[in-house]
Amino acid sequence: MIYDSPHTPVDLPECSVWDKVWSNPRGARDDETAVIDGPTGRKLSRAELRSYAQRLAHGFRNTARLSPGDVVCLFSPNSIYYHMIVLSTQCAGIVFSGANAAYQPAELAHQLQDSSAKLLLVHPNTLECALTATSQLGWSTSDQTSRIILAVRSDEAGPAASRFKTLDYLISEKEMQPHKVTNPKNTVAYLGYSSGTSGKAKGVKTSAYNMTSVLSILAPLKTYPHDVQLAVLPLNHIYGLTKLVHWPVLFGNPVVVMPRFELDALCTYVEKYKVTFLMLVPPIALHLARDPKVDKYDVSSLRMIISGAAPLGPELEKELANRLPKCTVVQAYGLTESSPTTHVAITPKRGSIGPLLPNMRSRILDPETGKDVPQGQQGEMLLAGPNIMLGYLNRPEANEETLVKDEEGTVWLRTGDIARVDEEGWFYIMDRLKELIKVKGFQVPPAELEATLLECPYVSDCAVIGLWVENEATEYPRAYVVLSSAGKKESDSCAAIQKWMQGKVAHYKQLKGGIKLVESVPKSPSGKLLRRILRDEAKKEMEDA
Ligand code: AMP
Repeated sequence: MIYDSPHTPVDLPECSVWDKVWSNPRGARDDETAVIDGPTGRKLSRAELRSYAQRLAHGFRNTARLSPGDVVCLFSPNSIYYHMIVLSTQCAGIVFSGANAAYQPAELAHQLQDSSAKLLLVHPNTLECALTATSQLGWSTSDQTSRIILAVRSDEAGPAASRFKTLDYLISEKEMQPHKVTNPKNTVAYLGYSSGTSGKAKGVKTSAYNMTSVLSILAPLKTYPHDVQLAVLPLNHIYGLTKLVHWPVLFGNPVVVMPRFELDALCTYVEKYKVTFLMLVPPIALHLARDPKVDKYDVSSLRMIISGAAPLGPELEKELANRLPKCTVVQAYGLTESSPTTHVAITPKRGSIGPLLPNMRSRILDPETGKDVPQGQQGEMLLAGPNIMLGYLNRPEANEETLVKDEEGTVWLRTGDIARVDEEGWFYIMDRLKELIKVKGFQVPPAELEATLLECPYVSDCAVIGLWVENEATEYPRAYVVLSSAGKKESDSCAAIQKWMQGKVAHYKQLKGGIKLVESVPKSPSGKLLRRILRDEAKKEMEDA
């Protein structure tokens, strides 16, 4: 059966992201604040943000000589410049690809190469990694000097400014007239990275229409003129990109930007800037629910907390709601492939991700038979709607597997998540069918970790699974390793492997779920890894512990 959204459908304009974001439905004034840098308190008004974005767009097109459809990669932690850079790409008609600031060189190199990024904007703190990554890709010193730009103003760039240009070089005197997008449904606007249901990270082609549509279908999630948001989530990920970059600008709500999560800083900004609206991931919800430090701050301005990106247990959800009685605590769900939000629980129903957003449809299929299951039973969730990606970049096979067209021509996204729907049409995520591991909301594709581990001289074979750690409200990757002869000679081979992994992959991909030494890893007769067997064993082990 097909589930329709219980919400009234909304109009979906076909326009550029730029036009949508600045359509200003609330009539916000130009001098209202758009972005606040949490640590310094520096602010950008809406007029400043718009003008800088148009001047930067002019620089992208005329100084950097980029053409519509070219890709710019931004490799930076959250900063006051993030909104300006993202919006300038949409003004210029170029494609934005945000890389996680925790990436190590090989991870960044993969994204740069796969996306064919023409220009790389980096924060001074991520410059060293960017230099290693681009050297690995064969960029010469002069390529680096011309294609890497520091994503800060000249006076903030430090010694690197002597070699690299900064945003000042790109910000022109002139404002660019926004690029006309003639076919928003087929115009790629963003290229995020997601492993999808299997394999390594792939470029997700998010169209301009996907983005404008998701901004429209979020309608049931009301915002008010006094709302202030806090950007604690990484803005490179589609969750932060939509909800903390585009959405607040659309509705004229200021966003306080913080470079990374730290509980004291978060509470300080909530108190200081009277933050009302907080999007977070389950491990941050855990800190807010349990850490005694929170009591030192006045966080009473918070009116709404939405947790997404990974499962939040009903108990923890209730605990957080009890600690903040004036604040509504709910869950939302989405994927990079659906730009991302498809479900929001507007009012609390513990453990539920809510009903479908407007204009969305869903089916729940038995993974064995591919047939629809009766309401109330669990199966793989498929989604259709205006925010479903165009597909993965240059991956026809993955697209065929992930995007399924029915007889009526509707394209269904296979989410790889197991869900059930209750009698009121509210959805619950029960399990994950796909291989993905989520560490504090970040994607960790096991296939990528296995490929990295197989390069380690101490490893002859391996399998990686996610281990759920209740008291941290997250999964961590655990590796099952068959030692090579070199590995067997090490006195502490697990420590040696852990050490080897440092610098190879981002900190959140490290094997915090441990390493188990085994004689062999389970495989099917055709040689496919049977991670499910290991997952079930690990689950039992955690229950027995
Ligand atoms: P990403 O593409 O990085 O946004 O990851 C999407 C995946 O995160 C989904 O397919 C789910 O497995 C997981 N996810 C997102 N939101 C939730 C949620 N509210 N509850 C459980 N899992 C979630």
